[in-house]
Amino acid sequence: MDTQRIIVLGGGYTGIVAAGRLARQVRADEASVTLITAHPTRDERMRWHELAAGGRYPLLSIADALAGSPVALEIGRVERIDLDGHAVQLADGRSEHYDRLVVALGSVIDFGAVPGAREHAHGLTDVESVRAAAATLGALPDGAPVTVIGGGLTGIELATEIAESHPRLAVTIVGSREPGHWLSDPARRYLARAFERLGIAHRVGRVARITGDAVVLADGAQVPSALTFWAGGFRANPIVAASGLEADELGRAHVDATFRSLSHPDVWVIGDAARVPGPDGVPLKMGCRTGAFMAFAAPHTIAQQLSGAPAEPFAGRYFAECISLGRGDALLQWLTADGAPTDRILTGRAARVVKEYIHRGNLFVARHPGPYGPHRRAHVRTGGRRQTIGA
Ligand SMILES: Cc1cc2nc3c(=O)[nH]c(=O)nc-3n(C[C@H](O)[C@H](O)[C@H](O)COP(=O)(O)OP(=O)(O)OC[C@H]3O[C@@H](n4cnc5c(N)ncnc54)[C@H](O)[C@@H]3O)c2cc1C
Repeated sequence: MDTQRIIVLGGGYTGIVAAGRLARQVRADEASVTLITAHPTRDERMRWHELAAGGRYPLLSIADALAGSPVALEIGRVERIDLDGHAVQLADGRSEHYDRLVVALGSVIDFGAVPGAREHAHGLTDVESVRAAAATLGALPDGAPVTVIGGGLTGIELATEIAESHPRLAVTIVGSREPGHWLSDPARRYLARAFERLGIAHRVGRVARITGDAVVLADGAQVPSALTFWAGGFRANPIVAASGLEADELGRAHVDATFRSLSHPDVWVIGDAARVPGPDGVPLKMGCRTGAFMAFAAPHTIAQQLSGAPAEPFAGRYFAECISLGRGDALLQWLTADGAPTDRILTGRAARVVKEYIHRGNLFVARHPGPYGPHRRAHVRTGGRRQTIGA
């Protein structure tokens, strides 16, 4: 068999790990692995709320992370995937042929969901836009109203970070449901106390539109806003659906339990760009806690398929999710195996330390993606053992 060229698109939380692992799970005469990504450093999306509030964090050089590994790194912006021609078109005019493709292009803020969002709201879209938001935030006069739309994990992390770093501003979080509505009762009580301590107001209501100085709710009420952040949901990177991969309403590619596209069997999709059926058929949630698991499992199934062995479906379980509440506080919600919240929580400094270790763990696995045992061949059975999902 000719050496296969496997291209991994996207050097984010899942792509770097998947590329590094895959390169060690295939033989050099069997396949080469190339990672194509837009930036030389990893987009630390899980820390963008810190950046928006004026914070700093260490950056991971992707070339350094891959040093010593057989992965070839190419920096370039993907413009289009030509599924019929088995090629990836880059913005600088390059065209890269692949035999097998792993798409790990992540997600984007869903600006189209509400009129005015694109024109008047900041989203945590890319490093440049987050830096621009930080500069605008820093220049606001004392007492200026700042609104974060979205009571999900990103909205909560962003609102608490801004309120803590800029106590002179009046932060309001707006969402169609209570912030953290999916959490357990003890977790929601803890969150309410954190909001009180940080002076964060919250409004429940569906956002109808965003203007230059207000957030307008469906009932006509207006929330004054000198600066608005839109954290109201994510969609898969639009390149995924535009390529012709069969995708759902959020643009996530439909894949099977081995992360292989249902419409294009030579394409695997992982991370936020994938719609993966969970154990009970309900798709796994977007998030690093799921993506991390896919980054570990997908290289194994690809290598199995290359070596002619039947690919084992993944078997994962959730264990926790950790929400930062500013620099000194966090909330760790323990989950059941299928992702439902339990009444067990960890809070305060201890949870904050866990969150820091999650970030450090993310850096560690990018540099040391494994497999960690002596085995590197795909047909060595590692399946059957359940892996854990947490972030
Ligand atoms: C503020 C914030 C906080 C978060 N906190 C948590 C958390 O606590 N827990 C959790 O589980 N999840 C969290 N998430 C979600 C988490 O960041 C994502 O689920 C995760 O990044 C998905 O990983 P991924 O590899 O699919 O995509 P990404 O990590 O986004 O990687 C995609 C990569 O593709 C590259 N790329 C994109 N387009 C192109 C292109 N056209 N050409 C070339 N390269 C391209 C990007 O530069 C990036 O490197 C948070 C997200 C945000 C925004």
